[in-house]
Order: sequence, then C-alpha cells, then structure tokens
Amino acid sequence: MPLLSHRVRNMAPSPTMAITSKAKEMRAKGIDVIGFGAGEPDFDTPSHVKEAAIKAIEEGFTKYTPAAGIPELREVIAQKLLRENGIEYSSSQIVVTDGAKFALFSLMLSVIDEGDEVIIPAPYWVTYPEQVKFAGGKPVFVNTSEENGFIFTLELLEKVVTERTKLLILCSPSNPTGAVIPEDELKRIGEFCAEKGILIASDECYEKLVYEGEKHVSIASISDELKEITITINALSKAYSMTGWRVGYAAGPSEIISSMIKINSQSVSNVNSIAQKAAVAALTGPQEFLKDWLKAFDERRRYMVERFNSIPGVSCTVPKGAFYAFPNIKKVLERGGFKDDFEFADFLIENAKVAAVPGSAFGYPGYMRFSYATSMENIKKGLDRFEAAVR
Ligand code: PLP
Repeated sequence: MPLLSHRVRNMAPSPTMAITSKAKEMRAKGIDVIGFGAGEPDFDTPSHVKEAAIKAIEEGFTKYTPAAGIPELREVIAQKLLRENGIEYSSSQIVVTDGAKFALFSLMLSVIDEGDEVIIPAPYWVTYPEQVKFAGGKPVFVNTSEENGFIFTLELLEKVVTERTKLLILCSPSNPTGAVIPEDELKRIGEFCAEKGILIASDECYEKLVYEGEKHVSIASISDELKEITITINALSKAYSMTGWRVGYAAGPSEIISSMIKINSQSVSNVNSIAQKAAVAALTGPQEFLKDWLKAFDERRRYMVERFNSIPGVSCTVPKGAFYAFPNIKKVLERGGFKDDFEFADFLIENAKVAAVPGSAFGYPGYMRFSYATSMENIKKGLDRFEAAVR
C-alpha cells in the first residue's frame, strides 16, 4: 500500500511558489536575481490595518472565533459587497476563509462529487485544476485566445459543456493574463449557466486592480437569477497587500455557505482572530492609498508591455487588470531551440538571473508570466537582462 493517498499523489505543487522560492534561494546565496514571479503587491500593508491588529492583541482578542468569522467582519463584508459590487447578501451568506485560496478549496469540497466536470478557462490560475482534482472532480479546460485579448466567451463555454458540468470558474481580472470580462459577456455566460443549472465560482481577487477606465463587474450583481448560482470569492490579499494575513471570503447561496462554514469548523476552525480584526479595519478605513498603488502599477504595466513589444520575437497583449503581463515567446523558443517554456524559464533564471513563470504552468505553453508587482528599477533591470538573453 503506498504511503501517500492517491489524492495527494495526483496533486502538483504550485509552480509559481516554486519559482519564487528558487529566486529567493539564489538571492540568499548572494546571486542577484530579479524576480518576476511574485503574486503579491510589493507595497506594505497600510498602517491603520497593522494598528488594528496590534490593538486586537493588546485587548486580548486572541481566542477562537466563530467558524464562519466574527460577526463584525461578516457584516462589514456584506456592506462592502453591497456598496462596491451591488450585490445584496445577508451576513449569514458570508464565510470568512483562509485567503481566497481556501474559499475556493472549501467550495470545491462542498459542491463537487466524484467525476463532476469543472470548466476552467485557460490560461488559468495554477491552483484551480489541482483543487478540482483533489475534490474528485474533472477539470475541463477551454482555451481563450490571444487575438481576443484572452477574454472568455459564451461561445467557448458552449464548446465544452456536458451533462456532467457542475461548475464554471471565472477569474476576472485574470491571473495570469489581466483580461477583464465585459459585463455583456458575463451576462450571456451567466444566463446560459442558469439555464443549464451550472454553478459559477467568481474569483474577484483582483477587482480593484483595473486600468484604462476598465470596469470590474461582479457577475452576481447582474440579476437575482445569476446571484442564485454564483459564489463570489474575494480576499484582502491583493487589494490591501495582506497576502500573509490570510483573510478571504465567499458569499453565495445559504446552503453552500453553510457547508463551507462546516468545513471551516472541522478543518482550520477559524481564520486568525487578529487578522479578522485587521480585515475590519481594512474594509472600513481609508482607501486612498489604492490610488497611489494603481498609479505605480499602471506605469509599470505600460512600460513592461512596451518593452516586450519592442523585443524581436516577443509580443504582449495589453493587460487590463491585475499585475501580470503575459507575453507570447513562441518565436523566441523556436529560434533558441528550446524544448518548451519550462526549459526557457530555467535558462533565464540560470543565465540571465531573471525569474518568471512559464505559460505551461497556467495551461498555456509558449508564453510567460511576468509580475509587475516589483519596483520600476527592478523591472528595467530585469527586462534589460531578458532582452539581452533573448537577443
Ligand atoms: N485567486 C487568484 C486568481 C490568485 O491569483 C490568488 C493568489 O495569487 C488567489 C486566488 C489566492 O489568494 P489568497 O492569497 O487570498 O488565498
């Protein structure tokens, strides 16, 4: 009998975390590596958020909390969803989770049965298929196209729907492409899902990071019908630079949320009490800092895309949201005789001392993901190195 369960043996480790740790390891050895692997803002958590956490510790708010999250935070999240996203949820329809990652995991465990199909538009965030498989489901991929700005459409969905389709995962703005699905497309997709009885997981982690006047729309806000089939997933990780605090949440139909609360109660118990207080401060406190972050991200985004498009053999679609660029490097791979983008990523880190994640990790070979959640100075230096290596 094998030591490890088949579930865990079938699970691939996170390739984005692997590349980030490799870069960290090299840096620890004194090697000057420029990392483009980061999936987190390079800004500090706002000080009023930290102060709320310190206050929570000093006041002894350090014990177990309800599995669903503290009532104050659930209420504040409900208010946020109404104010910013136009979706009306009661606080009982909200569960506080260990980041958006655990919200997704808990959702998969709640709704997927053995063999159920889950549609994942590619390129996708690396974690989705692994979580689906872990829950016993079958990931079904469908490629978006670079020509269409990597936007997922109803036509693509129709191609892969079967009798066994249980869930569709939407990620807009997208990691890794930055694509933002327009409202009319969301409506078409949503109405089709409602008709077919397919649930939608809407991962909205990057909702606040949009550029060029682009507007993020929550699919659950479009109609009551869509709200009934959607589980809205979000976190404080990216918008408040709180990746390490581990606070996320899900909002949706009561039966599903109750199941997710039960999973919390029998697994992690609750999200860290101090971090929950900090999350209340983040959601209710000043939001102005975001303007400065967006300005910095936008400058870096423009610079990066322009640079990529000026390098022979590289082309890059303009990302409308999140903090990643996803250039096409197929010609570079061909010219350099690289077997695949994994081999090229190894070459880059070893020779140019530049760390970026190969597109294959996101189910989309021939591309690479570069995060611009790093300083302009690093971006300039890293892209100089990338360009020299490519040339
Ligand atoms: N969803 C997407 C699309 C992400 O990119 C990430 C993090 O990289 C997450 C979810 C996980 O977020 P959290 O750190 O809140 O678990």
